[in-house]
Amino acid sequence: MSLDIRNLTVSIGEKPILKEFNLTVPKGEVHAIMGPNGTGKSTLAKALAGHEDYDIIGGEALLDGTNIVGMEPDEIARSGLFLAFQYPAEIPGVSIANFIRAAVQARLPEGENLVATKYYKELYAAMDQLKMDRAFTSRSVNDGFSGGEKKRCEILQMMMLKPEYAIMDETDSGLDIDALRIVAEGVNSMRGPDRGFLVITHYQRLLDYIVPDVVHVMYDGKIVKSGDKTLALELEEKGYDWVKEELAPAS
Ligand code: ADP
Ligand code: MG
Ligand code: MG
Repeated sequence: MSLDIRNLTVSIGEKPILKEFNLTVPKGEVHAIMGPNGTGKSTLAKALAGHEDYDIIGGEALLDGTNIVGMEPDEIARSGLFLAFQYPAEIPGVSIANFIRAAVQARLPEGENLVATKYYKELYAAMDQLKMDRAFTSRSVNDGFSGGEKKRCEILQMMMLKPEYAIMDETDSGLDIDALRIVAEGVNSMRGPDRGFLVITHYQRLLDYIVPDVVHVMYDGKIVKSGDKTLALELEEKGYDWVKEELAPAS
């Protein structure tokens, strides 16, 4: 059982960004992708989420054997892949509790109804774990949320949806230490044999909190190096130029 990305080639407009990208994340493991800015990390996440701006021109992405390439974002989520940012930035008038409830309901087998009391019990337990105020549930999705609140909300969604695989793209927006901790605690509490994680980050420090099983370095649309968690520390120390130099043909 794995998330198996094979020869994935993605372009934005006419510009190729991912070039025959390959990666396998088995269930039970946490893989990290690091790499310089502009190398295609977010493109990978968005293409897998089914974002319309990203043209997948070749390859496949198998979720426990089912190819999700070409599926609609909703269908991808129902299939068990979670990507926080695939949810709309702001939905006026829709409370968090109802938004997550609809998403959880959508993942249930045909004909099965989510029991409200059970749902709320679980929601409140997850909120307690994330130290979120109960009043939060009645606010509209992302309406005026701070960065930390948005992160908490994303992790809450993930905890309630219990996806088989989750991709966290931490972008380069400079999460503060509290937001980093929230993401890390959420991910760590959900680690287990039945779930795989792909954590994308530009900086090593997130990996102090989420200790990955495997670290991959991405450069120019491809994975160019893989190793254990010490690779992240090596990158932190030596920078990405070191990887580029290793890749340069000997003259
Ligand atoms: P990373 O996340 O590794 O910093 P991105 O995936 O965001 O890299 O970007 C990879 C390349 O794709 C960059 O050259 C970037 O300028 C380009 N790119 C990303 N998003 C868009 C877009 N919406 N339109 C045009 N080019 C884009
Ligand atoms: Mg970027
Ligand atoms: Mg990015």
